[in-house]
Amino acid sequence: MTTATSKAIQITHHGDPEVLQLVQRDVGQPGAGEILLRHHAIGLNFIDVYQRSGLYALPLPLQLGMEGAGVVEAVGDGVTHLQVGDRVVYASNPPGSYCERRVMPAAQVCRLPDSISFETGAAMMLKGLTAQYLLKQCLPAQGLQPGDHVLFHAAAGGVGLIACQWARALGLQLIATAGSDEKCQLALANGASHAINYRSQDFAAEVQSITGGQGVKVVYDSVGKDTWEGSLACLRRFGLMVSFGNASGPVPPISLAALAPKGLYVTRPSVFVYAHGRDATQAMADDLFEVVASGKVQIHVAQRYALEEVRAAHEALEARQTTGSTILTL
Ligand code: NDP
Repeated sequence: MTTATSKAIQITHHGDPEVLQLVQRDVGQPGAGEILLRHHAIGLNFIDVYQRSGLYALPLPLQLGMEGAGVVEAVGDGVTHLQVGDRVVYASNPPGSYCERRVMPAAQVCRLPDSISFETGAAMMLKGLTAQYLLKQCLPAQGLQPGDHVLFHAAAGGVGLIACQWARALGLQLIATAGSDEKCQLALANGASHAINYRSQDFAAEVQSITGGQGVKVVYDSVGKDTWEGSLACLRRFGLMVSFGNASGPVPPISLAALAPKGLYVTRPSVFVYAHGRDATQAMADDLFEVVASGKVQIHVAQRYALEEVRAAHEALEARQTTGSTILTL
C-alpha cells in the first residue's frame, strides 16, 4: 500500500504567526479505529491562536487545527460508522487539521449531511458544538427558559453568530457585545435582542438598563481578562458565569468571596468535556445539523484563505478584523 503525502502547517516553537511553517510530510495509513481523510476545507478557530502562541502549550512540533471537512479515503480495522467515500466533518482534539490529508481517530468524525457543503461543515463544527453545549447543556438545574436574558460577548465572531441565531430559535433574549458598531449590527441581524459596543460603552451599565436592574441569568464570556469584572456585575442573583475563552488574555486568579453577594456560579468548560466519546459527539452534532439544515442557524463563512496563507488568517483573527467563521481552502 502506498503512503500518501500531504502539505501541512506545523510549528516547532511558540510565537507570532511567522512560526507557522508549510511542510510536506508522509501521512501514513489508518490503524485500528482510525480513518485517512482528505480535506476539502479546514476551519480556523481562536483556540489555534492560543496553541500557536503558547498560551495553551502542547508538545512540539505541533500541527495546528481542530476542525475540518472532507472525504474518507481509507478506514482502519474496527471502524463501523464510516466507509471509504463518505463525506465527513469533525472537531478534533488533539489538533492536526491544517493539512491536505490526515489520519485521525474515527470516533471524532461524523458523516456530513448531503444538504451541508464542505465549507459550511468546516466552518461550523467546533464552533457549533460549542454553541450547542453553551446554550443547551451548561445550565443543568432548571435550564434556560424562553424569554430569559443572557449576555454573549464577542457575538459577531465564529461561535458568536451561531449562538445569536440558536438563542433566537430557543426564544432567549441574547444581549450581544461586539467591538464595533458594524459588528453590533451583524449580531442584531442574526438574532440578538440587543447589542452593545463594548469598546465605546459600559456594557455592565447597559445590561442593567436593558434588564431593568435584574441582570442576566447567564454570561457567556470568551474574552476573559478584559470583561471578567464587568461580566460578574451583569449577573442576577444565582446567575451562572460561563468563562470559555481568553481572547484578551487569561482571567487572573479570582477570589471566591467575589461570588458571595449574589451567590453566583462559575464554570470553565471545554467543548471536548461535552463532546466526549462517539455517542455524545454524534448527539451534539445531530442537534447542530438539524438547526443548520432547517435554516434556523446559517453559517457565515466571511473569510477564506488558502492553506498557504494561514499566517494572514491568524493575523486577521487576532486583530479583530474578522466576523463569523474563517476557513482555509485547498
Ligand atoms: P472569534 O471569531 O469570536 O474571534 C475572537 C473575537 O474575540 C474577536 O473577533 C473579537 O471580537 C473578540 N476579542 C475581544 N478582545 C479581543 C482581543 N484583545 N484580541 C482579539 N480578539 C478579541 O473566535 P472563535 O469563534 O473561534 O472563538 C470565540 C471564543 O470562544 C474564543 O475565545 C475561543 O477561544 C472560545 N472557544 C472556547 C471553546 C470552549 O469550549 N471552551 C470552544 C470554542 C471556542 P470583537 O472585536 O467583537 O470584540
